[in-house]
Amino acid sequence: MENHEWYPATSPLPMATPSRRVLPRGETQTKSPSINESPRMNIRCIRTHHLRDHLDVPFGFSQWYYNTRNTLWVEIIAEDGTTGWGESYGPSEVYQAAINSFYAPRLLGQNAMATDVLWHLMWRSSLDFARGGVMMGAMSGIDMALWDLRGKALGQSVSELMGGRYVDQIPCYATGMYFKDMPESDLIASIVDEARSYQQQGFQALKIKVGKNLPFDIRQIESIRDALPNMQMMADSNHAFDLPEAIQIGRVLEENDFSWFEEPLSPEFEGQFRQLQDKLDIPIATGECEQTRYGFQRLLSTGGVQIAQPDLAYCGGPSEALKIRNLASSMGINVVPHCWGTMLNLAAATHFIASGYREPGRKEVASPLLEFDRTPNALRDELFDIPVVVQNGIAQVPTGPGLGVVVNQEKMKSFTVQQTELKA
Ligand SMILES: [Mg+2]
Repeated sequence: MENHEWYPATSPLPMATPSRRVLPRGETQTKSPSINESPRMNIRCIRTHHLRDHLDVPFGFSQWYYNTRNTLWVEIIAEDGTTGWGESYGPSEVYQAAINSFYAPRLLGQNAMATDVLWHLMWRSSLDFARGGVMMGAMSGIDMALWDLRGKALGQSVSELMGGRYVDQIPCYATGMYFKDMPESDLIASIVDEARSYQQQGFQALKIKVGKNLPFDIRQIESIRDALPNMQMMADSNHAFDLPEAIQIGRVLEENDFSWFEEPLSPEFEGQFRQLQDKLDIPIATGECEQTRYGFQRLLSTGGVQIAQPDLAYCGGPSEALKIRNLASSMGINVVPHCWGTMLNLAAATHFIASGYREPGRKEVASPLLEFDRTPNALRDELFDIPVVVQNGIAQVPTGPGLGVVVNQEKMKSFTVQQTELKA
């Protein structure tokens, strides 16, 4: 492999230079510049923060159990001190190395406002050996931080940068009902109790896990529907089933009035999605393991997916999620992002949904849904001075600049496992 197109790591890309409006170091932009004053803000510093919280009670799903919560945050600081924050969904240690060792040296000195240009610089830099996977997950956190930074520099929220908000409030569905290490009959009772607690908190929709084993899954689906006859429900197997199993469970979900069947099949067997959909009426949702417009083009063109679920902290970031949404829109498919992690990703997903056009358009459009993970996570709940506000199951779209959430860096210290810093 020849790296014949590398640009020097700290030199600007050869591009037209916009008019400079550089603020003194440490001073923050306080008013929105006019179009003609669009600032160039070179990247001065990139930090990563690997954060970890230990769980009192492990919980699991069809693939593994969690006993800790981890996240990788990206902090990008421009020459005027404006700072953007982003999050990558996946293995924090690996992301930390990918960002600090590979991408950060190529981004220092570049114009932080040029989110799409920088996305494609990162894409071409790693395309030859990583068309996706953890390198794309690392890019996602960087891209999210750049959107936050650009919004702060321009005094606009990310949803405004994305084209404006169709809604200011978004109903959430509660993600929970994970498996715990206990007898199955006790587990079902525990899951039903947990579901009732979400109803009492005001949620009108929730999502359960399936894929433990078929007898358990069927008992769980029927028990929770009996307990909560009016709740909107979805089910997620995290790619646990083969095709005959998925058909069987899908029919049970239909009989119990579930709204979508998430990741019924492995993402490796794209052709099976169409075969499954031909057997079922329930909509098929998937995509949290998929990345980029190219990956989603292959997945959605099977005709077996009704709801696309990119994760903004993994699919390529907000920049790529917009392209995925445009692709899905051209096929008449709506996007309901997967959302896991902390308030950074939740804020990104909230802005993304708020700015999304629903296909097909109509005056009385169905409400979009925001995934709101309710499993224990101090990294989400304790580290933000300004979080995404969710009350009675309804999220307020943040109106502050950028992502509109504010990290408490003092509280962050006690959860920090490893921090890196690279300066221009
Ligand atoms: Mg899922």
